[in-house]
Amino acid sequence: MSSNIFITKICENCNKPFTERTTKTKFCSQTCASKAFKIRQRQIKVQKTNDETFLKINKIKEPIKDKEFLSVKVIILKKIKQNNNIPQT
Ligand SMILES: [Zn+2]
Repeated sequence: MSSNIFITKICENCNKPFTERTTKTKFCSQTCASKAFKIRQRQIKVQKTNDETFLKINKIKEPIKDKEFLSVKVIILKKIKQNNNIPQT
């Protein structure tokens, strides 16, 4: 079976309709394909930078959280010690 089917699609870059023989094509031209590719690469870069910033913020926050947790633990331990130190009459 020869493929005589032409599918009308909308270019994902310029939104212009175009006809294609395959359903896989997303762009009307090589120019649109490479433009979209560049945009996608930029988005990936931005996302990566955002992820790194998010990780950095979390890394800064984590030690404080640990300290807070430890200090609460220390306070509880101190209270238990104090309670134990109350002379029993
Ligand atoms: Zn296009």
